[in-house]
Amino acid sequence: MAIRTIRLEGDEILRKKCKEIKELTPRIKILIEDMIETMYQANGVGLAGPQVGILKKVVVIDVGDGPIVLINPEILETSGEQTGGEGCLSVPGKTATVTRPNYVRVRAYDEKMEQREVEGTELLARAICHECDHLEGKLYIDIAESPIMDTDTYYAEMEEEWE
Ligand code: ZN
Repeated sequence: MAIRTIRLEGDEILRKKCKEIKELTPRIKILIEDMIETMYQANGVGLAGPQVGILKKVVVIDVGDGPIVLINPEILETSGEQTGGEGCLSVPGKTATVTRPNYVRVRAYDEKMEQREVEGTELLARAICHECDHLEGKLYIDIAESPIMDTDTYYAEMEEEWE
């Protein structure tokens, strides 16, 4: 396994659409392992193919319950709404307010190329939406409802607002 370089905002590859994965080749298996390792090393909760320079529909997510691999994910259902701070490993150290669905149901293939459905609420729903956006060349900063701020400043200012 190896740590891959995370592409940063401004890199054109983050703006391109990804292709479907048709077959679980050894290269794809290594990619998935590397993406999980890279996500953990960067203390992220999700990572998508384009963020490591690979334009394929694969994302890895871990919101604290173990890694989830989604290959060719397709969002089937969303409901509710949540508004809160969101960040991205491709925009390091920054946070902004983004509204996302509070519930998401997604169909995808897992790391064994078996089809399954994953449901998520709250942070998992947010992470699924955020990572699926990456596969379409979209970043959270495109839909942010606040200025893009340093993470510390963002939470300090939000706390003031909440008081
Ligand atoms: Zn991201």
